[in-house]
Amino acid sequence: MPYRSDGQPIKTPLRKHMAENEGLLEEGKRRCAMCNRVKALHLYYKHSNMADGYRYVCKSCFKQRYPQARDHARASAYIRKYGITLDEYEALLASQDGKCYSCGMKAKKKRLAVDHDWEQGNPRGLLCTPCNRFLGRIHDDPATLRKMADYLETPPALVVLDDRDWTPYQGKRT
Ligand SMILES: [Zn+2]
Ligand SMILES: [Zn+2]
Repeated sequence: MPYRSDGQPIKTPLRKHMAENEGLLEEGKRRCAMCNRVKALHLYYKHSNMADGYRYVCKSCFKQRYPQARDHARASAYIRKYGITLDEYEALLASQDGKCYSCGMKAKKKRLAVDHDWEQGNPRGLLCTPCNRFLGRIHDDPATLRKMADYLETPPALVVLDDRDWTPYQGKRT
C-alpha cells in the first residue's frame, strides 16, 4: 500500500485520483477532484503531506469548500511562530492604528510583520517588512539607532570638511 510522506496510508479514492493524474502531472497539470477540470499546477495549493506535493482540489474549489482555512492556517502560524492569537494580532494592529510602528506605513494587502525579540522570544510589535529587516540588519541594537539619528542630525562630513555650496545629488536615490 502506498504511503504519504507523514506515514499515513493513501486511501483508495485518492489513489485512483492520483493514478488518473499521473500523465497530467508530467505536463504540469492535474485534474481537480471536486470540479473535475484539468488545471495548471499553480492553480493548486502546495501541501507537503500529499504524495505529489499538491492538494487534489484546485484553489478555487478549496476556498469554496474551506472558507476559514486560510485564517486557520494563519492563526496556527502566529501561535507557532510568535505565541499570539489572531485576536491578539488584531488588538496590536488596532493599538498601532493599523500602521507600522516605526515608519507609519499603513498595512494594506500585505500584513505587518510580528517583530519579536529573538533572545526572549516575546513579540515586540508590528512593523512593515523593510523596518523589520532593518532592525535585523542592525542586530536590534538601540545604540546603533541612536548613533544613526546623531549621524543624520550632525553629519560628520559637514563637521570635518570646509564649508561650501553643495549641489543636490542628481543620480538615482538608493
Ligand atoms: Zn476545482
Ligand atoms: Zn515601517
